Amino acid sequence: MAVTLETPLAKVLGPKTATGMADSLGLHTVRHLLRHYPRGYASRGEQADLADVQVGDRVTVLAQIRSVTTRPMRNRRGSLTEVVVGDGSGRMKLVFFNHRHGHLKVNEWGMFAGTVGEYRGEKQFAHPDMHLMDPDGDDTDWARALVPIYPASKDVSSWVIQKSVKLLLGAGGGFGELIDDPLPEEIRSRHGLLPLAAALLDIHRPTTMEDVERARRRLKWDEALTLQLTLAARRRAAALEPGIARPRKAGGLLDAVDAALPFALTEGQRDVGEELAAELDRDQPMHRLLQGEVGSGKTVVALRAMAQVVDAGGQAALLAPTEVLAAQHVRGIRALLGPLGRAGELDGDASGTRVTLLTGSLKAAAKRQALAEVADGSAGIVVGTHALLQQTVEFTDLGLVVVDEQHRFGVEQRDALRAKGNRPPHVLVMTATPIPRTVAMTVYGDLEISTLRQLPSGRGGVSSSVVPLTEKPAWLDRAWERLREEVAAGRQAYVVCPRIGDLPGDEPEDADGAPPEEDGRSDRRPPLAVLDVAEALRAGPLAGLRLDVLHGRMTPEEKDGVMAAFAAGETQVLVATTVVEVGVDVPNATVMVVMDADRFGVSQLHQLRGRVARGKHAGLCLLVTEAPTASPTGERLAAVAATSDGFELARLDLETRREGDVLGAAQSGKRSGIRLLSLLADEELIAEARGEATALLSTDRGLADHPGLAAEVAALASDERAEWLEKA
Ligand code: ADP
Ligand code: MG
Repeated sequence: MAVTLETPLAKVLGPKTATGMADSLGLHTVRHLLRHYPRGYASRGEQADLADVQVGDRVTVLAQIRSVTTRPMRNRRGSLTEVVVGDGSGRMKLVFFNHRHGHLKVNEWGMFAGTVGEYRGEKQFAHPDMHLMDPDGDDTDWARALVPIYPASKDVSSWVIQKSVKLLLGAGGGFGELIDDPLPEEIRSRHGLLPLAAALLDIHRPTTMEDVERARRRLKWDEALTLQLTLAARRRAAALEPGIARPRKAGGLLDAVDAALPFALTEGQRDVGEELAAELDRDQPMHRLLQGEVGSGKTVVALRAMAQVVDAGGQAALLAPTEVLAAQHVRGIRALLGPLGRAGELDGDASGTRVTLLTGSLKAAAKRQALAEVADGSAGIVVGTHALLQQTVEFTDLGLVVVDEQHRFGVEQRDALRAKGNRPPHVLVMTATPIPRTVAMTVYGDLEISTLRQLPSGRGGVSSSVVPLTEKPAWLDRAWERLREEVAAGRQAYVVCPRIGDLPGDEPEDADGAPPEEDGRSDRRPPLAVLDVAEALRAGPLAGLRLDVLHGRMTPEEKDGVMAAFAAGETQVLVATTVVEVGVDVPNATVMVVMDADRFGVSQLHQLRGRVARGKHAGLCLLVTEAPTASPTGERLAAVAATSDGFELARLDLETRREGDVLGAAQSGKRSGIRLLSLLADEELIAEARGEATALLSTDRGLADHPGLAAEVAALASDERAEWLEKA
């Protein structure tokens, strides 16, 4: 039988092993098994594995037998065999009950796999699986300097995988023909990469760690290139569908916006504005990501683009993640446009347009009217939440889609809105979560990117501190005092809590991003709740201040009322959940107190902090926590307090959340396309692969001359791996 990469493992390995691999490791074909790389290598005598293992780990260790003793058990019938093994760095006890142990000889080497337990303070394996090396046999595998340790399962041990891989690699013979290298020779030599067969041999059966490194580099290239080809193909497909040019016209809405702005645009806003204006003027649909630090003024950039499209006869839709934010956008845009935003109303200017709000909570009559305005084209600017995506929403001529706070949406949502154009509309997505370059090149790889680095001048800046309650309980009183001082000076404050409160089973409201239970504490008290904290503050440290609450369980009208009162300065302190996390813009607010700050992720905290000091006054952000300063959580909070550089924090977030979460489930997934590639460490490699992918697809023939690469891309697309691309 000719074995290919697509041959089912059952045909090569026998049904029992194959079933185990399929069920517990998700490995079905030869390709899957060859891409199931070792997670590490044990080298006899010098490894540090035994010293590192923790109770509860399921591990495989390579070690030497130091002693074997058997004695009858005290309270039961039968015998107990204790075997001590060591590896140079540490020792561990193996225990067996009623075990025939004649084959366990001192000084022999073996591999032992099991879950690390503990008995009287000592780490031990009870009845581990084991594989002894045969010193006399021709078991050359065990004589090798490096023994691969595979991600294994209860049913399939590391050495079963090792043996199976060895079988496939055929001890060298015939393997080379089995593997067609998809990577063109030219690219290989340009970047000094091993042929695929050699890389697979080296990663599974290396002699030195240098072999492993070289193999890994080549295999990472495969991952990066396949990914970049997929993304480049998307960019190309999007570029080939013609859209409609929306050229800039003088004397229209855009000029009116510029005239009405109460401030001068920053240089960054002007530059990005020019870039957008030029791109909107092409019939190739724009596909752009605008990333800009919290408070950098993205909204006005988007509004100017929308105005240009309206001036050119099209409609623009702005998708916001929350009703609070959608309402705020509508309020701001209407205020700025004045009569020009009220065309068709008594006091409106007929040469203008209408700014229409469309959210799920509109009353039936209001919704009918909004839908009609969208459908007959009188609404030039449509702002809404997810409700915009519904089928009943039809545009006359949708020319531009703006997605605010893109990280709250998926690609599907962006595409659903895009599909509402007669021809593909221009797309602008915005995010205040700065995206490290590698993520931008991968997760967001199908977008062009603009960045607003500058904050509008005259901002006071925010100083941040951690308030560690267990160590400095008195600091909390001081925090409330500071808040009162700010309020006395005419400023306003937010107090954010992770939970709403009051209801049984009430879950943290959207505290995404926080690494759950990273300290392994599952017995923590429930997170603080808005309703409880508000009551305590009213009765205690903030008595006498005008304080209100805002959370996701209020009706949209209630939320709107509360936000409007806060924006108008009537409310001095707003106790809220993360509903205020994104976008909320009240320039007079200067204090942000985050209760149970450890319950929030790094990016989330940065976003929350971005709610204050948006005007000319300096801001204060206090991260209140019970986490000890010296814990990982404490250090994470200290890092947030120490820097206001969003890019640095995004990196930290990437580290603490681990890349798997960024890429969706794929990284941990059994057959994900990304196994070796690291978004943090492989920036350069990803950039090179992106260059090659773009070059490969820049000719008319595309991948026609590279069937191997085309097959890899197809495999990525058809596999469940593609899932994470959608989760961007
Ligand atoms: P973000 O980028 O976080 O969405 P916004 O667009 O909400 O930020 O802008 C933050 C605040 O800065 C708003 O109050 C906005 O009116 C103001 N702003 C925007 N651009 C400028 C500018 N060039 N000069 C002064 N203030 C500005
Ligand atoms: Mg914003």
